[in-house]
Amino acid sequence: MDLELTGRWALVCAASKGLGAGCAEALVREGCNVVITARGAKALEATAAALRLLNPAVAVRAVVGDIATPEAQALALAACPQVDILINNAGGPPPGDFRDWDRSAWLAALDANMLAPIALIKATVDAMAARGFGRIVNITSGAVKAPIDVLGLSNGARSGLTGFVAGLARQPALAGRNVTLNNLLPGAFDTERLHKTLAAGAAKQGLSSDEFAAKRRAGIPAQRFGTAAEFGAICAMLCSAQAGYLTGQNILLDGGAYPGVF
Ligand code: NAP
Repeated sequence: MDLELTGRWALVCAASKGLGAGCAEALVREGCNVVITARGAKALEATAAALRLLNPAVAVRAVVGDIATPEAQALALAACPQVDILINNAGGPPPGDFRDWDRSAWLAALDANMLAPIALIKATVDAMAARGFGRIVNITSGAVKAPIDVLGLSNGARSGLTGFVAGLARQPALAGRNVTLNNLLPGAFDTERLHKTLAAGAAKQGLSSDEFAAKRRAGIPAQRFGTAAEFGAICAMLCSAQAGYLTGQNILLDGGAYPGVF
C-alpha cells in the first residue's frame, strides 16, 4: 500500500539510534524528507548518511542538541521547512526509588518526556490544521499502561503527556482538520537502552546478561524482543494518509506482553 507520504516533511526527535532511528528509516523509505535530532553528533551524522543512502530522493537534515531544551527545539523546528509529521521522542529517565528523587530529578523527567513534546506540538499543530494534514506520534512506553515501580519518573512524566494528548487529540479544530495525535507504547525492543536495562537487571539477580535476556524473552508471548524496524513500520502507518480517522489512541507494541483485554 502506498502510504502517500512522498514529499512530506517529518521532524523525528531523538533519532540517531533505537526506536527514533527506526521511525526515521521507515519514513524515509516512504519518501518523507526528515529532520533528525540527537545530542551526540557522531552517531547522528552516521544515521543521517545511512538514511541518505537508503533514499537519495529525499532530504535528510541532522540537528544536534538536547531536545528537552528550548534551544534545541528551536533549531530542530528551524531546520524543517514545514512539519507535516512530528515524532516526539527522548531518552527515558533513569530507574530508581522515588525517595531518592528531588525536585530537579522530576523536572528533568518532565522536561524530556512531557514538556518538550508539548512544546513541539504547540509549535506545529495549528499550521498542520491550517494545511489540512498533520500526524503527531509520541513515543511513550508500555509503562504508561502497566507501570513499572522502578521507573516512577517515566510512569509519572509519560502519564502526564498521555493525559494531555488525550484531550488535545479530540479538539474538533484538530481532528476535524485531519490532524491526528497518537502515542506508541513500546514494550521490550532490541535497542541500546534495552541492553543497558538488561545489564542492570542481570547484575541485580546475579545472572549473566544473556541469561537475564533469555528470561525476559521467555516472558513475552512473541518469545522475542521487538525490532526498531517493526516499530518504525507501525509509526509510518500511523503517519499515512489512510490513518486520518485514527486519533487519540495509545497503541501498545509489546509482542503480547500486556495480559489485559483492553
Ligand atoms: P536508545 O536506543 O537509547 O536511543 C535513544 C536515542 O535518543 C538516541 O539516538 C539518543 O542519542 C537520543 N536521545 C536521547 N536523549 C535525547 C535528548 N534529550 N535529546 C535528543 N536526543 C536524545 O533508546 P530507545 O530504546 O530507542 O528508546 C526510545 C524511547 O523509548 C526512550 O524514551 C525509552 O525510554 C522508551 N522506551 C524504550 C523501550 C525499549 O525496549 N527500547 C521500552 C519502553 C520505552 P543521544 O544519546 O546522542 O542524544
